[in-house]
Amino acid sequence: MSAPTILAIDQGTTSSRAILFSAKGKVLNVSQKELTLFYPHKGWVEQDANDIWSDTLNCCRAIIKDTPDQAAKIAAIGITNQRETTVIWDRDTGKPIYNAIVWQDRRTADICKTLKEGGHENTVSSKTGLLLDPYFSATKIGWILDNVDGARAKADAGKLAFGTIDSFLIWKLTNGKRHVTDITNASRTMLYNIVSQKWDDELLALFNIPRALLPEVKDNVSDFGQTEAEHFGKSYTVGGVAGDQQAALIGQACFKEKMIKSTYGTGCFALMNIGDTFKRSQNKLLTTPAYRFDGKITYAIEGSIFVAGAAIQWLRDGLGLFTDAAESEALATSVPDNNGVYFVPAFTGLGAPYWKPDARALISGLSRESTKAHITRAALEAQAFQTRDLLEAMKADTGFAPDIIRADGGLVSNQFVCQFIADIVDAQLDIPTVQETTALGAAYLAGLHAEIYKDLDDIANHWQIAKQYKPTMAREEADTHYNEWRALIKKSLLD
Ligand code: ADP
Repeated sequence: MSAPTILAIDQGTTSSRAILFSAKGKVLNVSQKELTLFYPHKGWVEQDANDIWSDTLNCCRAIIKDTPDQAAKIAAIGITNQRETTVIWDRDTGKPIYNAIVWQDRRTADICKTLKEGGHENTVSSKTGLLLDPYFSATKIGWILDNVDGARAKADAGKLAFGTIDSFLIWKLTNGKRHVTDITNASRTMLYNIVSQKWDDELLALFNIPRALLPEVKDNVSDFGQTEAEHFGKSYTVGGVAGDQQAALIGQACFKEKMIKSTYGTGCFALMNIGDTFKRSQNKLLTTPAYRFDGKITYAIEGSIFVAGAAIQWLRDGLGLFTDAAESEALATSVPDNNGVYFVPAFTGLGAPYWKPDARALISGLSRESTKAHITRAALEAQAFQTRDLLEAMKADTGFAPDIIRADGGLVSNQFVCQFIADIVDAQLDIPTVQETTALGAAYLAGLHAEIYKDLDDIANHWQIAKQYKPTMAREEADTHYNEWRALIKKSLLD
């Protein structure tokens, strides 16, 4: 039989994509559709869940139509998705009752503040590994139930379903036959206990969420359901699911303890594999399931930063400094240094390790000599300072500072950024040959289910390095830069 292929669905914050992979992890075809974000009020971020579904469906169909020979050999489908983003739909019609509330949305900041003041954060953290922040799904679910007419009564009567995007897509793909999710997505709802590995009654009561809304939680490699033949002309098994950052960890083959990956897309997310024992961060990082296979869980410690590449997008679209994100590199390197300009891109609040949902972005140190090149450079340099914030917190938690970071995401095509990160954090940055690591992770999971891969070692053997950035900056210089960043955050955003 000729070699099988795997179809990965990568439903991200800014686009929906389908990617066809060979069994060797090579990209054979990609179909992508940009997704519109709505900002109906300050701090609110929404998407049309119907678009998420129809775009995903159309991307998959485009692949099957354009590469019929390869698509005929699809052995399984894998799904990875933007995490925490919340959809509630009617079980009878499959129709969402409100827009998808996106992970970046801060509308529930006050609810989280009240719960925190009520002394609930410790309970939440000890069960979920998370912090009480609007980032996670629980308060978004509560907001929909309390603000859409009749929603709470319908939810109590079992007529509504909640899901993160994976769950919603699987419901649609199976025409409502399966209401399931995987442990990594479940863990980001703030309702799932990652120690007992069950939906948690105490948390459901705290956030006033009826259990009847919730999907069944499965291992990352499982039978998540069969797609209905009407969608793609025949039925496929969804064999693997993981949230985007965990999928990237898997795509980067970080299967050993202390291995770390950092993804620079819309936001920046660094995950370190910490093995099979749950440990709570003492430094405002998150503990999160990395993956669970055959019921055996592996945890990761995670640093989540809400804005990374999105800052470059803002320079492009908000300020019109350039027309293509890639131009930022030439602009930044047209000046010898930042000339004292620092840019904290806290457009949607500060994530790890500060967790200030009300903080907003700032540019400091501007003088009459400052140009758009300095501002652009400061936005790119911020990626390194943010990464160091995370690594310092990880070191405080684990006593471990990595020598190597496996990096990926749209921003790693910027060589200036990669070198500056390596310099500021004093670690080597390894960029893999397949940079679609998130989708690749989903494909690996589906491939494990279809028995294309034997085990994790088999997958790890596929990982190949394309580029390496070693630190070259004098430590003193790197520390001076970083200390200025820390001082700015402390003075302007934490007081
Ligand atoms: P996501 O998966 O979160 O949608 P991607 O991994 O596709 O994001 O990365 C896209 C982000 O990377 C955009 O925000 C874009 O501004 C940024 N980006 C892409 N190429 C470059 C570049 N060469 N220099 C700087 N930023 C870039």
